[in-house]
Amino acid sequence: MSDNELMPMIANLIKSVRAKPTEEELRLLRQPDVKEMRIFFDALSSGKPEQQIYDEILAHVRQRYGHILDAERAAEEAARKQKEAEDAAKRAVEEAERLRREAEAAAARKAAEEEVARVAAAEEAERVARLAKDAAEKAAADRREKEAAAAAAAEAERKRKEEEERLAREREEQRLADELALKIKSSPGKCVQCGEYIFEKDFLKNDELILHAACLPAYEEATCAKCAHCGKIITGDFAECGAPDGGRATVHEDCLQPFKLATRPKCGKCSEPILEDRRLCLDGVNYHVACAPQP
Ligand SMILES: [Zn+2]
Ligand SMILES: [Zn+2]
Ligand SMILES: [Zn+2]
Repeated sequence: MSDNELMPMIANLIKSVRAKPTEEELRLLRQPDVKEMRIFFDALSSGKPEQQIYDEILAHVRQRYGHILDAERAAEEAARKQKEAEDAAKRAVEEAERLRREAEAAAARKAAEEEVARVAAAEEAERVARLAKDAAEKAAADRREKEAAAAAAAEAERKRKEEEERLAREREEQRLADELALKIKSSPGKCVQCGEYIFEKDFLKNDELILHAACLPAYEEATCAKCAHCGKIITGDFAECGAPDGGRATVHEDCLQPFKLATRPKCGKCSEPILEDRRLCLDGVNYHVACAPQP
């Protein structure tokens, strides 16, 4: 028999008196005093009617346990209130958490919206910057194109001028060449000294020889014999005599006597220069033929 079940005797008594015990009365009827059965023996032995016995048993346990049950009820009430308070606190915490989550979600939504706005603003700024850059690049390209066109025009103009100058130069060269050809046609020939054509009226001509009058001194200097005495060129009459080196010397006729006086050895006897070609030499000393010592 479990502690929570009614004694069979009590259950029979309830049935017998047709009692309708409350929940509280059922609890009282399950208390230890009832289970000890002493109360039944007292009641049965008294010969009282069943209804009275039931009432007395109920009164006994109510008097004995009623306050305990009241305390239990109060404790249950307190526990219920405690639980209610706890539930309320829990609900308040949950509500606070819900509000916190909502605020968090709202903040996240706001941040996302702000991020979207920021990205849009950044994209717009980038688009504007790109437009400005494109415009600047196009302006630079236009400027370069214009500069290139101007440079090409300047180059074409330079080439045109260069060509014009070249043609003018060629025409001038041709004119000078024609003029020269005409002059050459009328020229008596080239100067034997300087190699240039002779256009002047003043020139010298002798058989094949032809030269500028002005080139004559240079021609003579280059081609005529020089006097062994004075060093000047010999153009007219000249004389020849023995040279100090044993060869022949050419001199002006007027220079012959001074040349001999200056170059001939002195006579070992009379000390005069030996002007004759013939002389005697004894022991390294020269003598006039007439002055030579007799053997
Ligand atoms: Zn000449
Ligand atoms: Zn001379
Ligand atoms: Zn002599």
